[in-house]
Amino acid sequence: MPEGDTVFRTARHLDAALSGRVLVETDFRVPAHATLDLSGHRVLETVARGKHLLTRIDARARDAGANLDPPSGRLTLHTHLKMEGSWHLYRAASRWQRPAHQARVVLRTDEWTAVGFSLGIVEVVETASEPDVVGHLGPDLLAADWDAAEAVRRLRSDPGRPIGAALLDQRNLAGVGNMYMCELCFLLGVNPWLPVRDVPDLARLVDRAQLVLAANKDRPAQTTTGDTRRGRQLWVYRRDDQACRRCGSQVRVAPLNERATYWCPSCQPGPVGGAGSR
Ligand SMILES: [Zn+2]
Repeated sequence: MPEGDTVFRTARHLDAALSGRVLVETDFRVPAHATLDLSGHRVLETVARGKHLLTRIDARARDAGANLDPPSGRLTLHTHLKMEGSWHLYRAASRWQRPAHQARVVLRTDEWTAVGFSLGIVEVVETASEPDVVGHLGPDLLAADWDAAEAVRRLRSDPGRPIGAALLDQRNLAGVGNMYMCELCFLLGVNPWLPVRDVPDLARLVDRAQLVLAANKDRPAQTTTGDTRRGRQLWVYRRDDQACRRCGSQVRVAPLNERATYWCPSCQPGPVGGAGSR
C-alpha cells in the first residue's frame, strides 16, 4: 500500500503536469461517473491530503454539452491509491505501462495523458464538499499545518488500542501505511501490539513519523535506515526470517488487524503476534 510520501510525490507530479491546462478528453471508467465528461475544463491543482489525492477543476461554463454547473464552479476529482493503485503520466503517443483494463480515470491535455490505474476510490464532488470526503482525516504528516499535539491527542483517545493499529488509523494522523507503521515501531523500540497507553513517549513517535515521511518525500527510494541501497533501506518490513540489523534476532511477522506486521521480538519486546491486544 502506498504511503503518504508516495501520494505526496504523486500529487506533485500530477500538479506539475496538469495544473493550468485544459482537459481535451476525460474518461471515467467507474459506474458512478461513466458518462461524466470534463473536457473543456481547466485543471486548477492537485494536492494530497494524507493518502488521498484531490484534483481540483474549474467547472464553470464551457462551450459544449455543459452537463455540470456546480454552484461553486469547482469540482474535485477525489482518488485514492489503496492497495494497488498508481497514477502514470504519458506523453501523447507513448505506451501505457499497465494494462488498459486497469485504468479507472484518464485525463488528457495537449501535453500529457494522466492515467489512474486500479484506484481504490474515484469520485467527483464539488470542491466545497471536500470535507465530506477527507474531513475525517487526522493531522497530515506532510501538510504545512501539521499538528503533532493534535495527533498525539487523537492517538490517546483510544488508550487500549494496539499502537500499530492506532498509527494506521488515518483519523489519528494521516499518511502512515503498513510499511512506516512497522518501521516506526522498530525505530522507537515499541512492540506494535503494545496498547497506546503503555507507549513510553507518543510525542517522540509522532515526531519521528513526521521526520521520516518528510525526509522520504523527495527521495526516489524510501529508507528508514538512512541507507538508500537496495535491500538495506528498511529495518524490519518484509524482512521476516532475516536477522534483525540491530541485534541479530530473527525478524517476525504476524497479522495485526489483518495486516502483515513485522517486528523484532528482542528490540521490541511485548505481546507476541496479537496476544494481549485490545
Ligand atoms: Zn532486534
